[in-house]
Amino acid sequence: MADKQPTSVKIAGSDAAILAESDLFQLSCGVYGCTSNCCTKSAPIILNPYEIAQICRESRISYEDLLDIVETDRAKGFPLVMLPRDPSCYFWTGRGCRIYGARPLACRLFPLGRVFDNGRSHIVLPELNVCSGLAPAPSTNTVADYLRAQDTSTLVQMADCWIEFVNDVELLQLPDKPVTSVAFHMLVYSPDTPPSVGPSDETLSPEARFTLRLATARDQLPQFLHLQKK
Ligand code: SF4
Ligand code: SF4
Repeated sequence: MADKQPTSVKIAGSDAAILAESDLFQLSCGVYGCTSNCCTKSAPIILNPYEIAQICRESRISYEDLLDIVETDRAKGFPLVMLPRDPSCYFWTGRGCRIYGARPLACRLFPLGRVFDNGRSHIVLPELNVCSGLAPAPSTNTVADYLRAQDTSTLVQMADCWIEFVNDVELLQLPDKPVTSVAFHMLVYSPDTPPSVGPSDETLSPEARFTLRLATARDQLPQFLHLQKK
């Protein structure tokens, strides 16, 4: 007998409905008085290095200047870079997103989210969310239509590469020390340092630069942090 597929997952103690790509879904941003609370008064967005590179390129700022805008932290030794949204995102103009073409995956998915459960990724609609624009009447648009309109596919692929990297690097048992953050800013997060040792190839696509950066970091981090590869 085939396994029964779950219909919801828990996120931070609350239910989130698992959606199929064929499920009906539509937003009416701006129509019912929403003041874009997805860009204001919300939790920070954890950025991956691909998203950071896209943001720096689109906003024409250096990684050093981005560090004045984002928040940084470490979770069990793993350095994080987060885009605050409270009271509002730095890139929110009051009328729209200043870096719309380079907005992170979380912004494209919102109010949906993407979670992993038992090794499978799911698109979910959290029960608790701050979006006030879910269309009240059934629409003919589906989740797949929404994801296509938000142009999520490349960001999903890059997010999967990042998750694989995070899982590998967590096995290194990173020291919860400032030196780990320094190593990550230099080898992993900064788009302003070459993505590999040796001469940098300027013709590489953003996606190829990102995967090359991760491959180099996998190799260099243990040496930089004096860790044993397992
Ligand atoms: S990056 Fe753009 S879409 Fe995302 S929270 Fe900031 S202003 Fe909103
Ligand atoms: S996604 Fe939701 S919160 Fe964001 S602008 Fe649209 S309706 Fe408002």
